[in-house]
Amino acid sequence: MVKIGVLALQGAVREHVKLLQAPGVEVVVVKKVEQLEELDGLVLPGGESTTMRRLIDKYDFFEPLKQFAKSEKPVFGTCAGLILMAKQLIGQSEGHLEIIDMEVERNAFGRQRESFEAELMVKGIADDIMAVFIRAPLIKSVGEDVEILSKYNGEIVAVRQDQFLACSFHPELTEDARFHQYFVEIVKETKNKCLNV
Ligand code: GLN
Repeated sequence: MVKIGVLALQGAVREHVKLLQAPGVEVVVVKKVEQLEELDGLVLPGGESTTMRRLIDKYDFFEPLKQFAKSEKPVFGTCAGLILMAKQLIGQSEGHLEIIDMEVERNAFGRQRESFEAELMVKGIADDIMAVFIRAPLIKSVGEDVEILSKYNGEIVAVRQDQFLACSFHPELTEDARFHQYFVEIVKETKNKCLNV
């Protein structure tokens, strides 16, 4: 059994909870810092990253979240969650949690394309993932330890760095659980590795 939390300060929480549910997975809605201790993995949902950061600070989640990632527990961020995980944000002097070595541009698709859907090839998952983009960020560059999982029109939209996963679209807004299953596998593998050390 693995326990996976969804940070529930703001954003699309319920949708993630639904898609994470699977045999062998207990899903926890995380509202208090103490809950992080019991988790094997964490999802940072989509929403609005500036608001989410403000709430992270207000409820003293900032250091505990950084520690969670430092302790090598898996983290999966979608859209605003991806923004929180970026090491660098274009136009800002520093990132937020700085978990993945990538440079990210917020709201990168411009006005005309504020939200749209596209079918994507995602390495290791499938070649027919329906991706919902909503005022989505783009990954402009990645460090050498980061694996690119998917591109849309030549731009990077999903990445993995070890046990950290991020995408600029919203797999939680579809009925397709394959992206979440991929994260659940990362959580299981990481937990087994820790138990075997
Ligand atoms: N544009 C939002 C931000 O900057 C992210 C949008 C989303 O999560 N759908 O935080």
